[in-house]
Amino acid sequence: MPPRLAGETHAAVAEPMSTASEQTLREQIVEVGRRLYARGYTASNDGNISVRLDDRRLLMTPKSVCKGFMSPDMMCITDLEGKKLAGDRDPSSEMQMHLEVYRQRPDAIAVVHAHPPTATGFAVAGIPLDRAVLAEVVTTLGSVPIAEYATPSTKELPEAVRKYVRAHDGMLLANHGALTLGRDLFAAYYKMETIEHFAKISLVARLLGGERLLSRQEVDRLQGLRGMYGIASPAPICQPGTADDPASCQTVFAPEGDGARLVPDMDGEIRLTYRELTALIAAAVRELK
Ligand SMILES: [Zn+2]
Repeated sequence: MPPRLAGETHAAVAEPMSTASEQTLREQIVEVGRRLYARGYTASNDGNISVRLDDRRLLMTPKSVCKGFMSPDMMCITDLEGKKLAGDRDPSSEMQMHLEVYRQRPDAIAVVHAHPPTATGFAVAGIPLDRAVLAEVVTTLGSVPIAEYATPSTKELPEAVRKYVRAHDGMLLANHGALTLGRDLFAAYYKMETIEHFAKISLVARLLGGERLLSRQEVDRLQGLRGMYGIASPAPICQPGTADDPASCQTVFAPEGDGARLVPDMDGEIRLTYRELTALIAAAVRELK
């Protein structure tokens, strides 16, 4: 059993970064890498992990190593511009994406990037995980959008991430993988687990005929619980009728429920009776005349 670490329980409040020693953070990165690889969230040398050491330095996985077999001495130390300050190896090739998260989110202490196969399947299919399906996902992550495709290791990737990262703690990267952040390494890692778990459940539900969605009223109720459980939420859920801005609110697909808590997924389909359809056509014809 690995040691229990900050972020292991839902109610855990992140340790201030100054209380975890550099050696502890190095060991935590090794442990997170081991779990990512053991669960099949990365293959070969995929993925990368970073954490703030203090207000000007980051500890980060090096490029070209398998995350399942790292040792604490392998990590690099960089500044917030990506300049290497210490370490025998070069920092991750996706470092710019991590730097962008830390620039946009002063509350982010750790960042995890991986390619979990089911969530990445959604990212490849262009299907965001933005339906209100599971209470714990609505409460902790909200929605998981897809950042537009960008060539890995180029500055396109931080630009794609920038649009969503202010209002989301987790996102899919189109045709690439997933990215999460948290108030410590394990909080960021668990969000990656939640995204992959959510993706698997969503896939099974769709194979079985589609999700029954939580209603908008139920989603609002769950949002109200966030504060009660001490869950830090980066942004509220976008309200209907207002322009959705991925930098300030989260788009969650949850239909009006007429008091019902679960609503069949109509997949955007509008159902009309024959009489309603005839009346609409008649009205449109009148407009044309
Ligand atoms: Zn990647």
